Amino acid sequence: MAEEFCQCSDCQRFYKEHDRLIREFPTFNQQKELNWASIQSFRTLCSKVTNDLQRELSERESSDLSLEEKHISDIEITEALDELESVSAYLYSIEALMERIFDTKISTKIESKFKEIAKELAPDPLNVDRLILNRLFHQTPDFPDKKNVN
Ligand SMILES: [Zn+2]
Repeated sequence: MAEEFCQCSDCQRFYKEHDRLIREFPTFNQQKELNWASIQSFRTLCSKVTNDLQRELSERESSDLSLEEKHISDIEITEALDELESVSAYLYSIEALMERIFDTKISTKIESKFKEIAKELAPDPLNVDRLILNRLFHQTPDFPDKKNVN
């Protein structure tokens, strides 16, 4: 492999998740639906939290809560609402682009190609061949069995 991949724990977690998503959703249609559902769930959650924070902020205006009674400060809520508003606008844009992808139709033969490539990209980690390969990769010169080879 020509490229050097970062091996920090965050990146490793990402590679693992990336491969899992290819393995579990190996077709064009599955990827399409997965990403659509993921954007929608993100948007649903963000908008529910936004509504809740807005309600809390307006309730505070009509009542006099002491500082101790406020778990989150007014400033913190206002700042979060600003951020969430931007996020919501970005998500709307992504959603509009996703709709374009949804118009794309892929033939069964091309879907087979997707499955074939997905198997190569993200083989089952519990597959016997994969386990043997991993063991070979993780052998270092310090391992006794490697020393015995020489
Ligand atoms: Zn990294």
